[in-house]
Formats: sequence, structure tokens, C-alpha cells
Amino acid sequence: MALIRQLDERLINQIAAGEVVERPAAVVKELLENALDAGADRIEVVLEEGGTRLIRIRDNGEGIAHADLPLALSRHATSKIQTLDDLEGVATLGFRGEALASIAAVSRMTLTSCVTDDVSDGATVTVSGPAQVPDVSPAPHPRGTTVEVNDLFFNTPARRKFLRTARTEWGRVDEVVRKISLSHPFTDLRVVHNGKSIRHYLPTHDDADALKRVATAFGDEFASQSTTIEVSAADPSLSDPMSLQGWIAWPTYSRSQPDQQYFFINGRMVKDKLITHAVRTAYHDVLFHGRHPAYVLFLSLPPKLVDVNVHPAKHEVRFRESRMVHDFLFRSIHGQLASLSPGEQAFVSDPVTLMSGGAGSMGAGASSYRGIQDQSGLPLGAAGVLSSASAAETVSRYGALLAEVPDNDEVPPLGYAMAQLHGVYILAQNRDGLVIVDMHAAHERIVYERMKQTLDDESVQVQPLLVPVTLHLSENECDLIESYAMQLVEFGLHVARQGVESARIDAIPALLLRSEAEQLVRDVMADISSLGTSQRLIQHRDQILSTMACHGSVRANRRLSIEEMNALLRDIEQTERSGQCNHGRPTWIEQPLSALDRLFLRGQ
Ligand code: ADP
Ligand code: MG
Repeated sequence: MALIRQLDERLINQIAAGEVVERPAAVVKELLENALDAGADRIEVVLEEGGTRLIRIRDNGEGIAHADLPLALSRHATSKIQTLDDLEGVATLGFRGEALASIAAVSRMTLTSCVTDDVSDGATVTVSGPAQVPDVSPAPHPRGTTVEVNDLFFNTPARRKFLRTARTEWGRVDEVVRKISLSHPFTDLRVVHNGKSIRHYLPTHDDADALKRVATAFGDEFASQSTTIEVSAADPSLSDPMSLQGWIAWPTYSRSQPDQQYFFINGRMVKDKLITHAVRTAYHDVLFHGRHPAYVLFLSLPPKLVDVNVHPAKHEVRFRESRMVHDFLFRSIHGQLASLSPGEQAFVSDPVTLMSGGAGSMGAGASSYRGIQDQSGLPLGAAGVLSSASAAETVSRYGALLAEVPDNDEVPPLGYAMAQLHGVYILAQNRDGLVIVDMHAAHERIVYERMKQTLDDESVQVQPLLVPVTLHLSENECDLIESYAMQLVEFGLHVARQGVESARIDAIPALLLRSEAEQLVRDVMADISSLGTSQRLIQHRDQILSTMACHGSVRANRRLSIEEMNALLRDIEQTERSGQCNHGRPTWIEQPLSALDRLFLRGQ
């Protein structure tokens, strides 16, 4: 008896649907991509119950011809490619011709479309239930397409069981739309959920619009605490330059999860280890350990330098010149963060934010900027930053120092110190208003940068190990050691291959004496093998520097003279990245007079 039978078309589609559309968000993604492929610049998404009950997407794209409607719903039918050659140059988001057929197999679907400006040219087709030849009937519709998907998985209960609550499904749809809103800034995108308009991404014409769109995607807080970045690099070997643009959050806005990290390469969202590493490294000086930076970045580079098809979901990429890309990203972002200059900080620039939480919000914020430990008595001026001279100053009744502020035209950006508050903050007056400095955080930053500078200027000091450390590694890692040994010496790390699967550490950088030599080498090798570059040593070096700087810096509760305070202010102005301490906390904030006026409802 024959046991092998041909599956019927509908069952084939239902099986395929399991891969293409596992949840409402995936349906929305496919339908939005179709609308974009059709050239739509206005798209509306209507959902009920997180899309489990209804998903309706309407676009103003080119539409589907009457005669093509049944074909659009059948498997392996597409207007986007015809030959293998087409596949190589495919510029559309879809091309497999599977989405509509799959969605139709597991829902009640209606497709209505029109290819002319005459609404009466519209036509509609509905499929639901068992396999059928769909009937096309006339239906008025403006140019464009509406796809309505009701009761997703109504006929596949096993799949339906895997759906989460409507709220969770909605969250995933929201995320899909957010990504598309970022990669297609010129498209007007509206989302209505359970009868309420939830998001409206307005098309972008200029920088202000672009920022509004980012605010719609991530909220006002991200938008007000981020900076735009726009860098391009012309490598002589490239016909087109690489360019990077987007928004990076100041380190004062960081996340406990890497959930606001969006990276697009030539318009396509990717999640890639090399990229994450480059960005994280650029931030590592200014971000507290364990916190994650937030960013939306768009990298454009010549398509021949990147293969986006490594991963089936196209989230990972392969670069022809991974090192060049890594360096470009690192340098661009690092440079932007280093360029933070007084006055550019968006932090606490809006007095309304301060007021909304009342006195409590300011108090809570302030206490979290305070030095890590409240100990006093450590020597001042480890880097010679602070002098001990004293000037015209008085100690008020409240124990605070008060100073006369010179009244001249050339007030430096951070102004002149007036008083010290609770042994923690310096209050200064600049041209625009009030500057408040966390003196411990600021000093720590200055010491750290100086120590780093001296290291950068000289070569790394090496500490030979009395008893060399033997390492057991994979053959592959040992091969790497062999080829990178010379480069590692530059870092002060002397490692040599000993056998097929073993190596020996003879010396390490003197600064890293206390760190685990073996773990360090393992991490470096892991980096080199996965990224083709190594920032690991620099990271360790800076981490140790940061700890030293923290211990060598002025503590809270140490009383400073006005001159010392002014010296500190001048040093902050001259130090790279001085707006942030080594832990990503702000070192100073500014409140212009206008903001203070608003706090007191002056002039309203
Ligand atoms: P693919 O997008 O891979 O071609 P789909 O199953 O998603 O496959 O769509 C099948 C075809 O239906 C597309 O090739 C396109 O011609 C047409 N189509 C689908 N959605 C739209 C739309 N919103 N506007 C215009 N044409 C569409
Ligand atoms: Mg498609």
C-alpha cells in the first residue's frame, strides 16, 4: 500500500505560515513591507486586541490590478523578481511571494485594492476557511491597498495557544512599527489600537521633524538627552564614502537593558556583534559599568562592502573590512562624546521636568550625583589640579563660602565659583545663570583624563612575570597568538605559543599587575577571533585608571577655597568629556536665569 501522499495546497500554506507569521507583529511587518514596496508614503495600521482579532493596513501605494488579486494570494507568486539575475539586485523588502498566501491560510483575509485614481476601479477578494478559488468582486477603493486580517490562527488552534496577552502582542507590533518608522523617515505612519490613535509618525523634512519622529519612537526624554551625529569618512579605496548619522544619548541617559539600540545599515536594521562592540567601546569611558547606551544610528556604506544575508532573519551582517568599520564607528561616536562642551548639555535644561516632581524630584536627583563614598581627608590635587591659595571669601552663618563674582564681559563658560554647598557642590555664576558642580565627580574626571593622557604619550611599561603563566587554549586561539604576538607586545603583553594547544605569558603591562593575566589573555584572544580587533587591553587599562582616579580625587565634605573651586572650574572646561564623570553621571548642570525665573513663575 502506498503511504506517501501529496499535501494539499492549503495545508502547505498553513505549515509555511508557521515560519512566516508566528504572531501579529510578524503579520504587521510583512504587510508594512508590502506597502513600502508598493511605494506608499502614507500607511495606517488599525489593530484590535493587539492584532489577534484584527489587523487592517491601508496604504496609498501603487495598488494591485484586478486580475492579479487571486495571484497575490497564492504561494510563490510575486511581482518583484522573475529571474535569478533579478534576485541578485533585489531592491525590495520582499520577493519570496509567501507572505500573503501564508497569512491568508491562517486567518480570514480580505484584500481590497485599486490601481487608478478612480475609486470605482477598486476590487476586493476574501479568503477564509478551506482551500478555494477566491472570487474577485468590484469594491470602491482609492488608489492603494487595504489588507484586513481577522481572527489570526482561528483555524490553527495549536498556534493560537502560543499567542500572549493582547497587551504583549501589541507591544511587539509597536516595536515593529517603531523600527520601520526609523528606517523610512519619509513615510507618514499612523497606528490605531482598540479605537485609539496611539502613534503618529509624521514624515521628516528637516532636522526638527526628524527629532520629533525620534521622540515619537522613544519618548521625549531620549530626544532631549541625545545629540545628533553626522560623520562621513572618505577612504581613498572607496568610490562612495562611509557615513554615519543618527542620535546618540548622552551618558546621563543610559539604560539597564540594551533595549534602545537601533542600528541600520543601508536602511536595514541589524543586530551585530561587531557594531555593538564598537559603540560600547566608544561609551565605555563615560558609562557606568553595567549600564547600556541608547542610540539610533544609520550607517551607509558601499553595498559591496557588506553582506546582509548572513543570517536568515538578516539581523547579522558580514563586513568586507570589519576593522575599518569598527574603527570608523568607534572614532565617530567617541569623538562626539568627547566633544561635549559646556552649554551643549541637554541635561536638566527644562525646569518643568524639575518642577513636575516637586522638591522631591530635585532632591532625589541631587543625591544620586553625590560622590560614591562620603569620606573626607584624602589629599587634594593628585594631578596638581587644585591649589591651596585662598582669596577674598567669607564663611557665612550657614558654613557656606560666599564670594564676590567679578563682573566682566569675558565670563568663562562655567563662570566663577560663589559658594560651596554641603561640602558636595560648587555653586557658580556664569553669563546665563547658575552652574552647579559635583566637585568629586568633576575632579575624578580630570584626574582620569590626565592619567590617560600620560599613558598615551609614553609607551606602556612592562612587568615581566617571575613565573611565566602557561595557558591551555584551542589550536585556533594559539594560531591567533602566533600571528598577533607582535601587536600584543605594543600593548605590553608578551605571549608566545608553546605547543599545539598551549601558550605562555611572559610579561604583562605594569598597570595591569593586579588583574588576572590569564583571563585577560583569554578575553583578548576571544575578542581578536570574533571581532578581528582588540580593544580589550585598552578597556582594562582605562578601567584600572578609572578606579585609581576615583581614589585619588577630592572627596565630598572637603572644604575648598574659592580659588580652588575656580581652578577646578577652569580645569573642567579644559578637560575632554568633562561634562561626565567616569561613571556616566553628570559632573555639572546649568540652570539659565530664564529657567530659574520660570521656577518662580516670574514674568508670566
Ligand atoms: P512578496 O512581497 O514577497 O512579493 P507577498 O506575498 O508579500 O510576496 O505579496 C505578493 C504580491 O502581492 C507582491 O509581489 C505584490 O505584487 C502584491 N502586493 C502585496 N501587497 C501589496 C500592496 N500593499 N500594494 C501593492 N501590491 C501588493
Ligand atoms: Mg511581501
